Amino acid sequence: MIIADYHTHTRYSHGTGTPEDNVKAAIDRGLSRIAISEHAPAHMLFGVHGGHLRALRKEVDRLAQKYAAQIEVLMGLECNLTAYGRADLPSNADLAPFDVLLLAYHKGVFPLDGFCLARTAEAFLHTQPDPVRTANALLAAAEAYHIHMFAHPGLYVRADIPTLARGAKELGVLLEINSARVTMSQEELRATAALGAAFVIGSDAHSPARVGDFELALSTAARAGVLEHVVNYKAG
Ligand SMILES: [Zn+2]
Ligand SMILES: [Zn+2]
Repeated sequence: MIIADYHTHTRYSHGTGTPEDNVKAAIDRGLSRIAISEHAPAHMLFGVHGGHLRALRKEVDRLAQKYAAQIEVLMGLECNLTAYGRADLPSNADLAPFDVLLLAYHKGVFPLDGFCLARTAEAFLHTQPDPVRTANALLAAAEAYHIHMFAHPGLYVRADIPTLARGAKELGVLLEINSARVTMSQEELRATAALGAAFVIGSDAHSPARVGDFELALSTAARAGVLEHVVNYKAG
C-alpha cells in the first residue's frame, strides 16, 4: 500500500475540490500524509500566484493543525521548468518553507530561453530536441531549487530517463511514478532502479475522489518489479 500522496491539486488551480476536501479524502483512504501541491506561478492557465498562493499557504497551515491527530498535511508546489536549470519557485519568505517541491516541464509555461522554447515546440509540434539535455536541465534546476521529486518524467517532452536517474540518485531527488498517466516505460523504470535512484508514487489528483488513487502507478511499478524502490510504498 501507499501511505502518502505528495501530488494533489485543488480549486486553487484547476482541481475540483478544496484543500480540506483533499485532506478528508486522504484520511478516508487511510493515508498518513498528504501534500497540496498546486501548479507554480509560471503556468499561464493553472499557476497559483500572489495573494492566492499566500491564502493557500494559510489554509494548508490551518488544515495541518486541525487534522494533526489524523494526518500530516504538507504544503507542496509543482514547479515548472522555465529555462535551462531554472524553475518558478517563488522566493517570498512568507510562503516558505515548502515541505514538498515537485518539478516538471509543462505546456502552457512561457519559455524564458531558447532551450525551453525548443521543448515547447516539441510538446506541440513533435520536433526532436536532445532528451539528454532535457534531463540535464531538469537536474540543474533540481539542484538549484532543492527539488524533492520530478513529477511525471517524460510527459510532454522526452527526457533521457537513465541520465535523469543517475543525477537524481546523486542529488537524492525522487522520480514520480504518476498514477494519472504512465510516463515511463517498463525498461525505463527498471533502468532507474538498477541505477540506484528511487521512486515516489503520486496520484496527481485533480478531484478529491482521486486523492490516494494509486492503482495505475502500483500496477505499473509491480509489473516492472520496482515496488521496493518506491519510498512511499509499504508492503502488506
Ligand atoms: Zn504536472
Ligand atoms: Zn500535477
